[in-house]
Amino acid sequence: MIYLDNAATTQMFEGGVDIYKKYACQSFFNPSAGYAQSIEIAKELNVARDKILNKLGSSKGNIIFTGGATESNNLAIMGSKRNGKWEYVFSVGEHPSVYNVARELESQGHIVHFVGLQENGQIDYNQLEKVLNSKTRLISVMHSSNETGAINDLRLVDKIRKDKSPQALLHVDGVQAFCKLEYRIDDYNIDLYTISAHKFHGPKGVGALYVRNCASLKNIVFGGGQENGYRSGTENVPGIMSMVYAIENIDVKQNYRRVKELNKKLKEIFSKDENISYVNGNNPYVISFGFAGVNGETLMRALENEGIIVGTGSACSAKKAGNRILENCGLSKDKVKTHIRISFDFNQTIDQIEEAGEIILKTYHNLLEKVK
Ligand code: PMP
Repeated sequence: MIYLDNAATTQMFEGGVDIYKKYACQSFFNPSAGYAQSIEIAKELNVARDKILNKLGSSKGNIIFTGGATESNNLAIMGSKRNGKWEYVFSVGEHPSVYNVARELESQGHIVHFVGLQENGQIDYNQLEKVLNSKTRLISVMHSSNETGAINDLRLVDKIRKDKSPQALLHVDGVQAFCKLEYRIDDYNIDLYTISAHKFHGPKGVGALYVRNCASLKNIVFGGGQENGYRSGTENVPGIMSMVYAIENIDVKQNYRRVKELNKKLKEIFSKDENISYVNGNNPYVISFGFAGVNGETLMRALENEGIIVGTGSACSAKKAGNRILENCGLSKDKVKTHIRISFDFNQTIDQIEEAGEIILKTYHNLLEKVK
Protein backbone atom coordinates (compact mmCIF):
# COMPACT_ATOMS: atom_id res chain seq x y z
CA MET A 1 0.00 0.00 0.00
CA ILE A 2 1.16 3.53 -0.73
CA TYR A 3 -0.66 5.88 1.62
CA LEU A 4 -1.16 9.34 0.15
CA ASP A 5 -3.77 10.70 2.55
CA ASN A 6 -1.48 12.06 5.24
CA ALA A 7 -3.53 15.25 5.60
CA ALA A 8 -6.34 13.04 6.97
CA THR A 9 -4.11 11.36 9.53
CA THR A 10 -0.61 9.95 9.97
CA GLN A 11 0.85 6.79 11.41
CA MET A 12 1.98 7.14 15.03
CA PHE A 13 5.73 6.99 15.68
CA GLU A 14 6.67 3.65 17.27
CA GLY A 15 8.61 5.55 19.95
CA GLY A 16 5.45 7.53 20.69
CA VAL A 17 3.58 4.29 21.32
CA ASP A 18 6.23 3.32 23.91
CA ILE A 19 5.80 6.69 25.60
CA TYR A 20 2.02 6.26 25.49
CA LYS A 21 2.38 2.90 27.21
CA LYS A 22 4.68 4.34 29.87
CA TYR A 23 2.14 7.00 30.83
CA ALA A 24 -0.80 4.60 30.56
CA CYS A 25 0.68 1.72 32.58
CA GLN A 26 3.45 3.04 34.84
CA SER A 27 3.18 6.80 35.29
CA PHE A 28 -0.60 6.65 35.04
CA PHE A 29 -1.42 9.02 37.91
CA ASN A 30 -4.01 11.76 37.72
CA PRO A 31 -2.12 15.06 37.40
CA SER A 32 -4.70 16.82 39.60
CA ALA A 33 -4.25 14.56 42.66
CA GLY A 34 -2.17 15.69 45.65
CA TYR A 35 0.42 12.90 46.11
CA ALA A 36 4.00 13.02 44.89
CA GLN A 37 3.45 10.82 41.81
CA SER A 38 0.66 13.11 40.57
CA ILE A 39 2.59 16.27 41.32
CA GLU A 40 5.41 14.85 39.20
CA ILE A 41 2.99 14.24 36.28
CA ALA A 42 1.63 17.79 36.61
CA LYS A 43 5.20 19.07 36.39
CA GLU A 44 5.85 16.95 33.31
CA LEU A 45 2.74 18.40 31.69
CA ASN A 46 4.16 21.87 32.25
CA VAL A 47 7.44 20.85 30.64
CA ALA A 48 5.36 19.51 27.72
CA ARG A 49 3.65 22.93 27.40
CA ASP A 50 7.02 24.66 27.19
CA LYS A 51 8.20 22.26 24.50
CA ILE A 52 5.11 23.00 22.40
CA LEU A 53 5.55 26.76 22.87
CA ASN A 54 9.14 26.40 21.79
CA LYS A 55 8.24 24.48 18.62
CA LEU A 56 5.53 27.07 17.84
CA GLY A 57 8.08 29.82 18.13
CA SER A 58 6.45 31.61 21.02
CA SER A 59 8.29 33.03 23.98
CA LYS A 60 5.09 33.90 25.80
CA GLY A 61 1.61 32.48 25.99
CA ASN A 62 -0.17 29.43 27.30
CA ILE A 63 -0.95 25.94 26.09
CA ILE A 64 -4.32 24.37 26.86
CA PHE A 65 -4.47 20.65 26.14
CA THR A 66 -7.61 19.50 24.34
CA GLY A 67 -9.12 16.45 22.70
CA GLY A 68 -7.90 17.49 19.23
CA ALA A 69 -8.23 20.33 16.78
CA THR A 70 -12.02 20.25 16.53
CA GLU A 71 -12.24 20.97 20.23
CA SER A 72 -9.43 23.57 20.10
CA ASN A 73 -11.23 25.41 17.29
CA ASN A 74 -14.55 25.31 19.16
CA LEU A 75 -12.88 26.61 22.33
CA ALA A 76 -11.05 29.37 20.47
CA ILE A 77 -14.19 30.66 18.74
CA MET A 78 -16.96 30.00 21.26
CA GLY A 79 -14.61 30.97 24.11
CA SER A 80 -13.95 34.35 22.45
CA LYS A 81 -17.62 35.12 21.96
CA ARG A 82 -18.90 38.10 23.94
CA ASN A 83 -22.31 39.62 24.50
CA GLY A 84 -23.16 42.76 22.62
CA LYS A 85 -22.88 43.88 19.06
CA TRP A 86 -19.63 42.14 18.14
CA GLU A 87 -18.84 40.76 14.70
CA TYR A 88 -16.95 37.60 13.73
CA VAL A 89 -14.93 37.07 10.57
CA PHE A 90 -14.02 33.74 8.93
CA SER A 91 -12.62 32.66 5.62
CA VAL A 92 -14.87 30.40 3.53
CA GLY A 93 -11.88 28.07 3.18
CA GLU A 94 -11.98 26.88 6.77
CA HIS A 95 -12.22 23.28 7.91
CA PRO A 96 -15.72 22.24 9.11
CA SER A 97 -14.51 22.44 12.73
CA VAL A 98 -14.27 26.21 12.22
CA TYR A 99 -16.80 26.76 9.45
CA ASN A 100 -19.64 25.01 11.25
CA VAL A 101 -18.90 26.88 14.49
CA ALA A 102 -19.19 30.09 12.45
CA ARG A 103 -22.56 28.87 11.15
CA GLU A 104 -23.62 28.16 14.74
CA LEU A 105 -22.66 31.71 15.80
CA GLU A 106 -24.77 32.98 12.93
CA SER A 107 -27.74 30.88 13.98
CA GLN A 108 -27.37 32.30 17.51
CA GLY A 109 -27.96 35.76 15.99
CA HIS A 110 -24.37 37.05 15.86
CA ILE A 111 -23.07 39.00 12.89
CA VAL A 112 -20.74 36.72 10.95
CA HIS A 113 -18.79 37.64 7.80
CA PHE A 114 -17.36 35.06 5.44
CA VAL A 115 -14.41 36.20 3.36
CA GLY A 116 -13.88 34.56 -0.04
CA LEU A 117 -10.79 32.92 -1.50
CA GLN A 118 -8.52 33.79 -4.38
CA GLU A 119 -7.84 31.33 -7.19
CA ASN A 120 -4.66 30.25 -5.42
CA GLY A 121 -6.71 29.21 -2.38
CA GLN A 122 -5.54 32.05 -0.13
CA ILE A 123 -8.04 34.33 1.59
CA ASP A 124 -9.06 37.42 -0.39
CA TYR A 125 -7.17 40.07 1.57
CA ASN A 126 -9.07 42.98 -0.04
CA GLN A 127 -12.37 41.51 1.08
CA LEU A 128 -10.94 40.92 4.54
CA GLU A 129 -9.94 44.56 4.75
CA LYS A 130 -13.46 45.60 3.76
CA VAL A 131 -15.32 43.59 6.41
CA LEU A 132 -13.10 44.46 9.39
CA ASN A 133 -14.23 47.33 11.60
CA SER A 134 -14.25 48.56 15.18
CA LYS A 135 -16.87 45.93 16.14
CA THR A 136 -14.83 42.92 14.98
CA ARG A 137 -14.23 40.62 17.91
CA LEU A 138 -12.49 37.70 16.19
CA ILE A 139 -10.84 36.89 12.87
CA SER A 140 -10.35 33.18 12.19
CA VAL A 141 -8.11 32.27 9.25
CA MET A 142 -6.39 28.93 8.77
CA HIS A 143 -2.63 28.81 8.35
CA SER A 144 -2.58 26.27 5.52
CA SER A 145 -5.45 24.62 3.71
CA ASN A 146 -6.10 20.91 4.23
CA GLU A 147 -7.52 20.78 0.69
CA THR A 148 -5.21 22.86 -1.48
CA GLY A 149 -2.04 23.49 0.53
CA ALA A 150 -2.61 27.24 0.19
CA ILE A 151 -0.69 29.16 2.85
CA ASN A 152 -2.30 32.35 4.06
CA ASP A 153 -0.06 35.37 4.51
CA LEU A 154 -0.53 35.77 8.25
CA ARG A 155 1.79 38.77 8.41
CA LEU A 156 -0.55 40.56 6.01
CA VAL A 157 -3.64 39.40 7.92
CA ASP A 158 -2.07 40.78 11.11
CA LYS A 159 -1.25 44.06 9.37
CA ILE A 160 -4.82 44.44 8.09
CA ARG A 161 -6.11 43.64 11.54
CA LYS A 162 -3.86 46.28 13.13
CA ASP A 163 -5.04 48.90 10.61
CA LYS A 164 -8.77 48.14 10.70
CA SER A 165 -9.58 46.30 13.97
CA PRO A 166 -6.74 46.47 16.48
CA GLN A 167 -9.13 45.17 19.15
CA ALA A 168 -9.88 41.95 17.22
CA LEU A 169 -8.41 38.61 18.26
CA LEU A 170 -6.67 36.54 15.59
CA HIS A 171 -7.34 32.79 15.67
CA VAL A 172 -5.42 30.51 13.34
CA ASP A 173 -6.16 26.85 12.67
CA GLY A 174 -2.58 25.62 12.36
CA VAL A 175 -3.34 21.92 11.92
CA GLN A 176 -1.81 21.53 8.45
CA ALA A 177 1.13 23.85 9.14
CA PHE A 178 2.44 22.84 12.55
CA CYS A 179 5.46 20.54 12.35
CA LYS A 180 5.36 20.91 8.56
CA LEU A 181 6.23 24.53 7.82
CA GLU A 182 8.92 26.70 9.36
CA TYR A 183 7.56 29.79 11.14
CA ARG A 184 7.36 31.53 14.51
CA ILE A 185 3.85 32.42 15.62
CA ASP A 186 5.26 35.40 17.54
CA ASP A 187 6.00 36.98 14.15
CA TYR A 188 2.27 37.12 13.36
CA ASN A 189 0.90 38.34 16.73
CA ILE A 190 -1.46 35.39 16.84
CA ASP A 191 -3.83 35.24 19.82
CA LEU A 192 -5.11 31.69 19.43
CA TYR A 193 -3.53 28.81 17.50
CA THR A 194 -4.86 25.26 17.03
CA ILE A 195 -2.80 22.08 16.65
CA SER A 196 -3.69 18.38 16.42
CA ALA A 197 -1.32 15.51 17.28
CA HIS A 198 -2.50 12.92 14.76
CA LYS A 199 -1.49 15.11 11.82
CA PHE A 200 2.19 14.88 12.80
CA HIS A 201 2.57 11.23 13.88
CA GLY A 202 1.09 11.67 17.34
CA PRO A 203 -2.03 9.90 18.64
CA LYS A 204 -5.60 10.71 17.66
CA GLY A 205 -7.94 12.60 19.99
CA VAL A 206 -5.33 14.93 21.45
CA GLY A 207 -4.31 18.45 20.56
CA ALA A 208 -3.77 21.88 22.02
CA LEU A 209 -4.84 25.49 21.83
CA TYR A 210 -2.19 28.16 22.14
CA VAL A 211 -3.59 31.22 23.92
CA ARG A 212 -1.50 34.40 24.01
CA ASN A 213 -3.55 36.03 26.74
CA CYS A 214 -5.99 33.92 28.71
CA ALA A 215 -8.01 36.99 29.69
CA SER A 216 -9.44 36.95 26.17
CA LEU A 217 -10.90 33.45 26.56
CA LYS A 218 -13.79 31.88 28.48
CA ASN A 219 -14.20 28.15 29.06
CA ILE A 220 -16.91 26.32 27.15
CA VAL A 221 -16.73 23.08 29.17
CA PHE A 222 -17.67 23.13 32.86
CA GLY A 223 -16.28 20.74 35.44
CA GLY A 224 -13.31 20.23 37.73
CA GLY A 225 -11.34 23.24 36.52
CA GLN A 226 -8.34 21.49 34.96
CA GLU A 227 -6.15 23.43 32.53
CA ASN A 228 -6.58 26.55 34.68
CA GLY A 229 -10.33 26.28 34.24
CA TYR A 230 -10.18 26.60 30.46
CA ARG A 231 -10.72 22.91 29.75
CA SER A 232 -12.16 20.79 32.52
CA GLY A 233 -11.61 17.05 32.38
CA THR A 234 -8.62 14.91 33.31
CA GLU A 235 -5.82 15.51 30.84
CA ASN A 236 -5.03 12.74 28.36
CA VAL A 237 -1.52 12.35 29.77
CA PRO A 238 -0.37 9.40 27.58
CA GLY A 239 -1.67 11.19 24.50
CA ILE A 240 -0.05 14.51 25.43
CA MET A 241 3.30 12.87 26.18
CA SER A 242 3.35 10.97 22.90
CA MET A 243 2.28 14.15 21.05
CA VAL A 244 5.31 15.89 22.53
CA TYR A 245 7.51 12.92 21.60
CA ALA A 246 6.38 13.40 17.98
CA ILE A 247 7.10 17.13 18.14
CA GLU A 248 10.61 16.47 19.39
CA ASN A 249 11.27 13.90 16.69
CA ILE A 250 10.22 15.99 13.73
CA ASP A 251 12.85 17.92 11.83
CA VAL A 252 10.64 20.48 10.08
CA LYS A 253 13.31 21.91 7.80
CA GLN A 254 14.63 18.57 6.55
CA ASN A 255 11.17 17.03 6.13
CA TYR A 256 9.96 20.07 4.20
CA ARG A 257 12.83 19.70 1.74
CA ARG A 258 12.07 16.01 1.21
CA VAL A 259 8.35 16.53 0.73
CA LYS A 260 9.02 19.34 -1.73
CA GLU A 261 10.92 16.81 -3.87
CA LEU A 262 8.02 14.33 -3.68
CA ASN A 263 5.57 17.05 -4.65
CA LYS A 264 7.74 18.08 -7.60
CA LYS A 265 8.14 14.50 -8.80
CA LEU A 266 4.41 13.80 -8.82
CA LYS A 267 3.64 17.02 -10.67
CA GLU A 268 6.33 16.09 -13.19
CA ILE A 269 4.76 12.67 -13.81
CA PHE A 270 1.29 14.16 -14.24
CA SER A 271 2.57 16.92 -16.52
CA LYS A 272 2.69 14.25 -19.27
CA ASP A 273 -1.09 14.53 -19.44
CA GLU A 274 -2.69 17.89 -20.16
CA ASN A 275 -6.03 16.66 -18.80
CA ILE A 276 -4.62 16.63 -15.30
CA SER A 277 -4.63 19.94 -13.46
CA TYR A 278 -3.99 20.92 -9.90
CA VAL A 279 -4.57 23.50 -7.20
CA ASN A 280 -1.60 23.75 -4.87
CA GLY A 281 -0.38 26.56 -2.67
CA ASN A 282 3.10 26.75 -1.22
CA ASN A 283 2.58 23.92 1.25
CA PRO A 284 4.13 20.92 -0.54
CA TYR A 285 2.39 18.39 1.74
CA VAL A 286 -1.07 18.70 0.11
CA ILE A 287 -2.14 18.94 -3.54
CA SER A 288 -5.60 18.83 -5.06
CA PHE A 289 -5.47 17.20 -8.51
CA GLY A 290 -8.22 17.28 -11.12
CA PHE A 291 -8.55 14.41 -13.62
CA ALA A 292 -10.77 15.69 -16.43
CA GLY A 293 -13.51 13.29 -17.51
CA VAL A 294 -13.59 11.07 -14.42
CA ASN A 295 -15.24 11.34 -11.05
CA GLY A 296 -12.74 11.84 -8.22
CA GLU A 297 -14.54 9.44 -5.94
CA THR A 298 -14.61 6.73 -8.62
CA LEU A 299 -10.89 7.25 -9.17
CA MET A 300 -10.24 7.07 -5.44
CA ARG A 301 -12.02 3.70 -5.21
CA ALA A 302 -10.27 2.33 -8.29
CA LEU A 303 -6.92 3.38 -6.81
CA GLU A 304 -7.77 1.67 -3.55
CA ASN A 305 -8.00 -1.60 -5.52
CA GLU A 306 -4.50 -0.89 -6.85
CA GLY A 307 -3.10 -0.29 -3.35
CA ILE A 308 -2.95 3.50 -3.57
CA ILE A 309 -4.79 5.42 -0.87
CA VAL A 310 -5.75 9.01 -1.69
CA GLY A 311 -8.43 11.37 -0.38
CA THR A 312 -11.28 13.27 -1.94
CA GLY A 313 -10.89 16.20 0.44
CA SER A 314 -11.20 16.58 4.17
CA ALA A 315 -11.93 13.15 5.69
CA CYS A 316 -14.44 14.85 7.98
CA SER A 317 -16.46 16.11 5.02
CA ALA A 318 -15.60 13.45 2.43
CA LYS A 319 -19.11 12.02 2.60
CA LYS A 320 -20.73 15.36 1.81
CA ALA A 321 -21.50 16.37 -1.73
CA GLY A 322 -19.50 19.14 -3.37
CA ASN A 323 -16.46 20.94 -2.12
CA ARG A 324 -16.96 24.43 -0.73
CA ILE A 325 -13.26 25.20 -0.81
CA LEU A 326 -12.44 24.27 -4.42
CA GLU A 327 -15.63 25.99 -5.60
CA ASN A 328 -14.51 29.12 -3.79
CA CYS A 329 -11.19 28.96 -5.64
CA GLY A 330 -13.26 29.44 -8.79
CA LEU A 331 -13.63 25.83 -9.99
CA SER A 332 -16.97 24.82 -11.48
CA LYS A 333 -19.08 22.20 -9.67
CA ASP A 334 -18.33 19.74 -12.49
CA LYS A 335 -14.61 20.33 -12.31
CA VAL A 336 -14.59 19.97 -8.54
CA LYS A 337 -16.06 16.48 -8.94
CA THR A 338 -12.95 15.37 -10.84
CA HIS A 339 -10.62 16.21 -7.94
CA ILE A 340 -8.76 13.99 -5.52
CA ARG A 341 -6.47 15.09 -2.71
CA ILE A 342 -2.94 13.77 -2.44
CA SER A 343 -0.97 14.40 0.73
CA PHE A 344 2.56 13.22 1.43
CA ASP A 345 4.66 12.16 4.34
CA PHE A 346 8.38 12.84 4.79
CA ASN A 347 9.05 9.10 5.20
CA GLN A 348 8.02 8.43 1.61
CA THR A 349 10.57 7.94 -1.14
CA ILE A 350 10.83 9.25 -4.67
CA ASP A 351 10.55 5.61 -5.87
CA GLN A 352 7.24 5.19 -4.07
CA ILE A 353 5.94 8.42 -5.56
CA GLU A 354 7.05 7.34 -9.04
CA GLU A 355 5.29 4.02 -8.59
CA ALA A 356 2.13 5.67 -7.26
CA GLY A 357 2.19 8.29 -10.03
CA GLU A 358 2.39 5.68 -12.80
CA ILE A 359 -0.42 3.62 -11.22
CA ILE A 360 -2.59 6.72 -10.88
CA LEU A 361 -1.99 7.63 -14.54
CA LYS A 362 -2.79 4.08 -15.71
CA THR A 363 -5.91 3.85 -13.55
CA TYR A 364 -7.09 7.25 -14.78
CA HIS A 365 -6.66 6.25 -18.43
CA ASN A 366 -8.48 2.93 -17.84
CA LEU A 367 -11.40 4.80 -16.31
CA LEU A 368 -11.43 7.27 -19.19
CA GLU A 369 -11.67 4.37 -21.66
CA LYS A 370 -14.67 3.02 -19.78
CA VAL A 371 -16.60 6.29 -19.81
CA LYS A 372 -16.01 6.81 -23.55
N1 PMP B 1 -8.49 21.69 11.00
C1 PMP B 1 -7.88 21.22 9.89
C2 PMP B 1 -7.26 22.18 8.93
C3 PMP B 1 -7.83 19.84 9.65
O1 PMP B 1 -7.23 19.38 8.54
C4 PMP B 1 -8.43 18.96 10.59
C5 PMP B 1 -8.41 17.46 10.34
N2 PMP B 1 -9.01 17.06 9.12
C6 PMP B 1 -9.05 19.49 11.72
C7 PMP B 1 -9.06 20.87 11.89
C8 PMP B 1 -9.73 18.61 12.75
O2 PMP B 1 -8.76 17.94 13.51
P1 PMP B 1 -9.11 16.82 14.58
O3 PMP B 1 -9.24 15.56 13.81
O4 PMP B 1 -7.93 16.79 15.51
O5 PMP B 1 -10.35 17.24 15.28
